[in-house]
Amino acid sequence: MKKIFLSVVVTTIAVATISFSCSKNTSTPSSSSSSSSSSSSSTSLPDIYKKISSTIQGSNLQVYVDGNYVVIKSNGLPDHKSPYYKGTQWASTMYQAYNGTGSFSQNPNTIASQNYVFKIPITPSVASSSQQTPMGPMGIAINGVPLFNQYAAGRVALTSEIYSFDQYGGHPAQAGDYHYHVEPLYITLNKGKDALLGFLLDGYPVYGPLENGKTLTSSDLDAYHGHTSATADYPNGIYHYHITADAPYINGTGFYGNPGTVTN
Ligand SMILES: [Zn+2]
Ligand SMILES: [Zn+2]
Repeated sequence: MKKIFLSVVVTTIAVATISFSCSKNTSTPSSSSSSSSSSSSSTSLPDIYKKISSTIQGSNLQVYVDGNYVVIKSNGLPDHKSPYYKGTQWASTMYQAYNGTGSFSQNPNTIASQNYVFKIPITPSVASSSQQTPMGPMGIAINGVPLFNQYAAGRVALTSEIYSFDQYGGHPAQAGDYHYHVEPLYITLNKGKDALLGFLLDGYPVYGPLENGKTLTSSDLDAYHGHTSATADYPNGIYHYHITADAPYINGTGFYGNPGTVTN
C-alpha cells in the first residue's frame, strides 16, 4: 500500500445567480452568500466521507458535495488482491490465488473497471415507507467497491454464490463489477472490526460487526439491519447499519432512509 490516490474534491455549488433584478453590478466572488432557497447550497463535505479512500493506482475515486448530495465517483476496482484479477491489466500487482479459509469455487468473471456515480443524500432522512434495496449496488464501501444486498439474481438467497467469494469477501458479476454481499474483510483487517465500512444509498453509515466490544448478530438489530446509537463518527448518535456474519449480512428488509441514486 504505497500511495493513496484519493482526490477529495469539495465543490461548493453556488447556484449560478444571474441577477437581473438587481442592477448592481458588483461581482464580488462571494463563496457562500447565495441562493434564497433554504436548501444548503454551500454545505461542506461531512468529515465521515473523508474516510473514503483507495490505494489502487488510477482508482479515480472522487468524493464531493453537489447540492444536497454527496457524489462519489468510483471505478469499483478493489484495492486489495483477488483471484479475480487474473488475466487483467492489473494482474501483475493485484492477482493473488485464493488463500482464504473454507472452500472456494471461482466464478468465470474477471474484474473490470466501472463508472459508478453514487448520489447520496448529505442529510439522511427516515423513509415514511421503506423501499427494498435494488439488485446491483445498494451502497458503497469506503474503498470504492459497491455493496450488494443479500440476494443473487432473481432475488434468491445467496447459496452457492457464497463459495465464489474471494479471500476478502467479494466477487465480480458478469460485467466484471466486483462487489461485496458480506463483510469486506480487507477493510476490517486494516481498519478494525468496529470500523466504518461504507454507506448505503440512503446516507446512513455501515459499520463492522463489533460495537463496544461486542460482536453483533442480526438478532441485535432491527428489520433493516441497523439501530440508533452513538458511533465514533457521530458521538451524539445516528441510525446506522452493521454488517454481521449471519444473513442478511448488510441490510434486512430495505432502506431505513430515503435512498439516493447510483448509475454505472
Ligand atoms: Zn454477487
Ligand atoms: Zn451500532
